[in-house]
Amino acid sequence: MKYILKLFFTVCLYFAIVPLAKAEAPYSLNVVYFIPQDDEAVEGFESRLSDLLLYIQKFYRKEMIRNGFGNKTFGLVKEGSGKVKIIVLRGEEKIPYYSYADGGGYKAEREIGIYFTKHPEEKKSNHTLVIMPSTSNDDMRPGGVPFYGIGKYCFALDYPYFDIKYLGENSPKGRLLTKWFGGMAHELGHGLNLPHNSAQVTEGEKLGTALMGSGNHTFGLKPTFLTKASCAILNNCEVFATRKKRYYDKDTNFKLEGMEIAFTDDKVLVKGHFKTVLPINGVNIYIDHSPYGQVNNDYDAESWTVKPRKDNHFAIEIPRSELHKRGNCFQVRVRLLCANGMIHTQVAEFNWEDLKTYQLVKS
Ligand code: ZN
Repeated sequence: MKYILKLFFTVCLYFAIVPLAKAEAPYSLNVVYFIPQDDEAVEGFESRLSDLLLYIQKFYRKEMIRNGFGNKTFGLVKEGSGKVKIIVLRGEEKIPYYSYADGGGYKAEREIGIYFTKHPEEKKSNHTLVIMPSTSNDDMRPGGVPFYGIGKYCFALDYPYFDIKYLGENSPKGRLLTKWFGGMAHELGHGLNLPHNSAQVTEGEKLGTALMGSGNHTFGLKPTFLTKASCAILNNCEVFATRKKRYYDKDTNFKLEGMEIAFTDDKVLVKGHFKTVLPINGVNIYIDHSPYGQVNNDYDAESWTVKPRKDNHFAIEIPRSELHKRGNCFQVRVRLLCANGMIHTQVAEFNWEDLKTYQLVKS
């Protein structure tokens, strides 16, 4: 009887504890600390970077919830200690080979790719954040190494004062932290499929600066947020998944069958319809002012997002009062978001002085 009771209590205790244990996300961001042959890791990087990454993870979660996409954020693998797991890799070459100016990012990416081929169990998704120690030899002016996000890779740097204890501090180290920490949060956004965008007028007054605009300069110091359009893309990003499924397969059946962009005195009207086998669960519209372009001229593009109807039609009205209008020319960029993370983009160009309706008709 005593044994049965003991067993009963053990089982009860098991079921009481197990649900509290957090299951690992089905996909996680790969975090790699990449050190050139003749360089050294910056002291204490494991715990400093872990604290910083967990802060960014929480920020993304808060913004996903605020924008109505639920309690989701990118996965991070944790060690038993609760710290974020960081893969430490030694580069094959010396410091100059991996410099920002010399395309060091692609070179590091190639070696990391080889590492993942040899150790597939270490690769937790297609998305990788690479952090390299600064090579500038000046702790208050870090730099020298790749710092950008492109494709599924993004690059940030480490230096001795890269420490969350300085966050929000109005001091040289506090402002320096915002620059490089905000920079890491912003480049990570690129590595998680995000393009640039800025706040709409009212949104900016209420929420501050969009992280994928110039929020890398305000992160941790002043109000900084993720736009709803950014969150709509993250909602389909592999490392935000709450269950395993296929990501990033090219949908050869997708076709934008029609689209119209028209103008009234106070609105921009965008509507369209498409054909697809894989579901499209969002349509993002960006108004990008001259000089425009998808690489580094799109920071000022205000964004909107709308869900398509079940019959694959979408329509949105954008108030012109929500645009920070600059210059005569602008682009309307329409991005159709596939639930598997792929994005189909259609671009149309206009001039405020001579607005014409844009019509795309495909048979
Ligand atoms: Zn950027």
